[in-house]
Amino acid sequence: MKNLSDLMNEVFTLKDEIISLRRDIHEHPELSFKEFRTTELIVDYLKSHGIEVSRPTPTGAVGLIKGNGEGKTIALRADIDALPIKEETNLPFASKNEGVMHACGHDAHTAMLLVAARVLSENRDSFKGTVKLLFQPAEEKAGGAVQLIEAGALQNPRPDAVMGIHVWPYSEAGSIGYTRGPAMASSDFFNVKIIGKGGHGAYPHNTIDPVNALVHTVSALNSLVGRTVNPLDSIVLSVTTIHAGTAGNIVPEEATFGGTVRALNEDTRTRIEKLFKEIASKIPESFGAKSEIEYKRTTRVVYNSPEFIDFMLEAVKEAGVFKKLEELPPTMGSEDFSFYLEEIKYGGFIRLGVKNEKIGAVYGLHSPKFIIDEDALPYGTALHVAVSYKFLNGE
Ligand SMILES: [Zn+2]
Ligand SMILES: [Zn+2]
Repeated sequence: MKNLSDLMNEVFTLKDEIISLRRDIHEHPELSFKEFRTTELIVDYLKSHGIEVSRPTPTGAVGLIKGNGEGKTIALRADIDALPIKEETNLPFASKNEGVMHACGHDAHTAMLLVAARVLSENRDSFKGTVKLLFQPAEEKAGGAVQLIEAGALQNPRPDAVMGIHVWPYSEAGSIGYTRGPAMASSDFFNVKIIGKGGHGAYPHNTIDPVNALVHTVSALNSLVGRTVNPLDSIVLSVTTIHAGTAGNIVPEEATFGGTVRALNEDTRTRIEKLFKEIASKIPESFGAKSEIEYKRTTRVVYNSPEFIDFMLEAVKEAGVFKKLEELPPTMGSEDFSFYLEEIKYGGFIRLGVKNEKIGAVYGLHSPKFIIDEDALPYGTALHVAVSYKFLNGE
């Protein structure tokens, strides 16, 4: 039976393997729900290391590593999909799939978790209980986590803790970034159609002008957050699209607008949705127009349980290999990791720094020039291993 520092050594000796897996996946990116090659690669790798693997969804996979005797279960998640972006990095292993790119680092997430699985599997006698590996499709479409959960990925055994890692190009390579409580925002999308009565631009009194109704509605929505939500409670409402009309002398029949709402608190999110719907129906109504409102909720607030974050920091300290720790403020970006945290309350979503100015790794997530410092990758693998080892050997 080995100790945690033995396991950490094993992780760092496998650095080249993490990098070559990552490059292979990077070179062959696949869009959400189409990750067939990536899934084959994951399944083959896990099987070749004697890890039990199932495929509850068409793409993606779930692995199980049983330790030495009964115990708790920890789930580790990596998302595996890429984006519809044309890569502009000029890397020797740049995307071979024209117009598709791993610009969010999910290639790195997958590679880090694969090698963590190998190290944990080779050291099954060093812990009790079970490690569950969630290789999730379609994070970018925010449908993958729900699909995997609905397919039973969180049953048999049900995890007692869940952790995910996202590479973070805004922090120095190798740093472990954590946030207690709300870490990322919920994400909702709306589209509103205002229906008036069209006619001649010279005779507006004979029409019901949907453009005018839209302008008043959008204006009211733009002041909604500022006047109804505590300024210390972060929420964003952005109207980002407007479509109406065809000519200067025609009042159109309809006008539409759309956008997004992001919140760091589920109660505020719900309250804003209700107020949004009142404004988007009553203001057009006051001008004699009607409205059709589509309001679609996607991801929830990513809420990191503070107890889990404290536990993770202890594991990091004990592992002794991590050089930089950074407490980060929440971001208004979103993640479907929130659905695992909704089910398994004890868990966290951790950010791994991959920035390095010396090699040009300075571009943000979803940039066609997105580059990561691969020297950071063993730290992600090490975090998966250290947290699992400590959780499963704890009381
Ligand atoms: Zn992304
Ligand atoms: Zn991502």
